[in-house]
Amino acid sequence: PSPRHHPDWADAARAVRIETRAFIDGSYTEASDGATFDCINPATGAVLGRVASCSAADVDRAVAAARRSFDAGDWSRCDPAVRRRALIRLADLIEEHRDTLAILETLDTGKLIRDSATLDIPGSADVFRFFGEACDKLLDEAVPVGPGALAMITREPVGVVGAVVPWNFPLKMAAWKCAPALAAGNSVLLKPAEQSPLTALHLAGLAAEAGIPPGVFNVLPGFGPDAGGPIGLHPDVDCVGFTGSTEVGKLFLGYAGRSNMKRVWLECGGKSAFIVCPDAGDLKAAAEAAAAGIFFNQGEVCSATSRLFVHEDIQADFTALLLDAAQAYAPGNPLDLASGMGAMVSEEQTGRVLSYIETGKAEADLLCGGSRVLAETGGSFIAPTIFTHVDPRAVIATEEIFGPVLSVISFRNEADVVGLANASIYGLGASIWTRDLDRAVRMSRALHVGSVSVNAVDHVDLRTPFGGVKQSGNGRDLSLHAFEKYLDLKTTWISIRETAA
Ligand code: NAD
Repeated sequence: PSPRHHPDWADAARAVRIETRAFIDGSYTEASDGATFDCINPATGAVLGRVASCSAADVDRAVAAARRSFDAGDWSRCDPAVRRRALIRLADLIEEHRDTLAILETLDTGKLIRDSATLDIPGSADVFRFFGEACDKLLDEAVPVGPGALAMITREPVGVVGAVVPWNFPLKMAAWKCAPALAAGNSVLLKPAEQSPLTALHLAGLAAEAGIPPGVFNVLPGFGPDAGGPIGLHPDVDCVGFTGSTEVGKLFLGYAGRSNMKRVWLECGGKSAFIVCPDAGDLKAAAEAAAAGIFFNQGEVCSATSRLFVHEDIQADFTALLLDAAQAYAPGNPLDLASGMGAMVSEEQTGRVLSYIETGKAEADLLCGGSRVLAETGGSFIAPTIFTHVDPRAVIATEEIFGPVLSVISFRNEADVVGLANASIYGLGASIWTRDLDRAVRMSRALHVGSVSVNAVDHVDLRTPFGGVKQSGNGRDLSLHAFEKYLDLKTTWISIRETAA
């Protein structure tokens, strides 16, 4: 779908209805203590609404509803075709509500409407459709154990699943967790990030309309320690799917250890490498991809290729092309289709990124950007920023910045660059640019990451797994493999008398 089908996004945004209440046991509700927090539009600084701020009491209510619905079996033990139909209906509803959801996503996060209308929202619908379609086609197994017995391996939903997600792709991250968990028959508590609760709240109403029974899908907006912590610590939550920072991912491992050993799946931070070999061929295409790899979504992408390794022989040419490519990312009003980049999600994130930029100015050469822009709008905008001649051990080359800041590092040979790329606590993605097939395969095998794109950048597809190794996390979102996170295997062994009595 084209965002241009819409006459005027700014007009439509003024008329959009905003749901601010939590969704527990099939209805919208205030937080039990009436607490709220301000939801801010980071492109203007304006308050969009006062959103229910959930706490442990609300988590308890939602877990009780989720457990009741799970035990009742209307969703967990139904013919999976029932779940298939409901999830496909939900995908259809997300598409029907595309404009509203895209506006909510853009107002809430500052991301470009161009992207929310064509990528985030339709992409989220696709995820619900994919897992809905798949859920009645997963077969159980009968094991060949010879005479005297029948052995079966069946898949069973794990129970109550918490989905705790970040603010960079709010609806998409919610879909990546909730769609496979729901399709597998679990009851779910979704905790959106406090910076971006609006599309998750809108989704809850659509899920009810699609026929997902009360208690099966709950949405609890609120702060991490208030609403996320109690989910992680709850003795009756069986599993948590988390996407967010490595720091908070580690907290969830601790919560599980201190409570019921719930299984914890983590998609955390990254510092992905973009490697341009001397035989990359079309350097202009590579430079455009490198710019997209760090400036798409303001660089607020876990798999952003924030470390650019370029061979020393082509460094000067490549840097010139990169500077050209960066021009396409001039920040502007996210509701304007002509803007190249949107606003940062919050003032807090803006401050964090600007402080890394100041560190970078002392560590390396600033090629472009390096400051806040459009301050007169009241919004949080940062110019696309590139540092060159960066030492691979520099702070800006090792820590996740989560903003539009690229470090360019030169390398001498293949072994050199593989070593540099792997010298990170993270292992999410990597992009290799070369026309030499042997080199591409050799390097891809040597890189310790969850996914590699060759002559492409950060290729993500719902049919292939996404996730990381090392401190980027465990488990995989997307693809049929995602079901494995939300299903337990049960072995049933039946002795058989082979002769009739
Ligand atoms: P964050 O870790 O601060 O927050 C993520 C979620 O955890 C939010 O819902 C938040 O409210 C909750 N949370 C925060 N503190 C908590 C606590 N003490 N207890 C329980 N829950 C808590 O991350 P963020 O700033 O929202 O997102 C940015 C991070 O997410 C980056 O590090 C990025 O790399 C990562 N990310 C990873 C992926 C991936 O798939 N690997 C995708 C997107 C984002």
